[in-house]
Amino acid sequence: MPIPDPRDTLSHALPDQAGGDQFHLAGARAVIATMHGKERVIAPLLTEALGLDCVVPGAFDTDRFGTFTREIERTGTQLDAARAKIAAAFEHEPHTRVAIASEGSFGPHPWIPFAPLGRELVLLVDRQTGLEITGHDATIDTHFAHRVVDGPAAAFAFAERMQFPEHGLIVMGCRGDQPAPDIALWKGIVAADALDRAVREAVARCGAAFIETDMRAHFNPTRMQAIERATVDLVRRFRSRCPACAYPGFDVTERVPGLPCEWCGEPTQVIKAEVLSCAACGHRVARSVAERPTADPGLCNQCNP
Ligand SMILES: [Zn+2]
Ligand SMILES: [Zn+2]
Repeated sequence: MPIPDPRDTLSHALPDQAGGDQFHLAGARAVIATMHGKERVIAPLLTEALGLDCVVPGAFDTDRFGTFTREIERTGTQLDAARAKIAAAFEHEPHTRVAIASEGSFGPHPWIPFAPLGRELVLLVDRQTGLEITGHDATIDTHFAHRVVDGPAAAFAFAERMQFPEHGLIVMGCRGDQPAPDIALWKGIVAADALDRAVREAVARCGAAFIETDMRAHFNPTRMQAIERATVDLVRRFRSRCPACAYPGFDVTERVPGLPCEWCGEPTQVIKAEVLSCAACGHRVARSVAERPTADPGLCNQCNP
């Protein structure tokens, strides 16, 4: 079953038309569990593509689920964190059918040395049907970086590379070369004079300042774009229905290596197929993904050990 390109799907901009479909969400009230302006990218997409009526709860504090600035350590997986936000949003808005939450994580790339990897997850839960759908984005274009600086000159050099002030910065105290937000912490810095003051103050107190990119979405347009891509992915998965039972979210769950080598015919680690499966009924469809019938011998353990 072919999955259309997400952007093509969205360009039609029509809410799903499906009479009698229990998963049909047009007109349903949806609460977006966010407080960092993420609704600016999430709400228009979900309104346009799924017909949801999106609201943002007033006075909803998502920082208690963990922050990027280390005051509150996040526990559990990204999905756990998003589910906790959704549970809190439903509690906050008891008459709402749908809730949406987003969760980002930033850290070292698993196999590219020195590259940070940013992962965004957007989760939609429909409590009328129990449906849970995720959308994902992973990118090395993260704007996630930090530096220990000895004064404003070094701080401004870093700031320029980080596209300040379009992207906000955080300045903290320092212990050795480790961040010490307990000594001093300034978040959401978007003005040169504020950056200058914070760095001078931290250096006066600690001998150096720890400066890093503010990863909260409203201070980080690069991250906002990643959340938008994850939302597009969520819509794509929502629209991909199981051919057997019509449950949403029919998508790739497995990639199968073993494309035969062009020279010796032995199976290689090159992916030959992917398997799509249904979370509700377990229906599976395998489809070939290889562009050629055989793999490059350069990727074969027999021919190029
Ligand atoms: Zn199914
Ligand atoms: Zn071979």
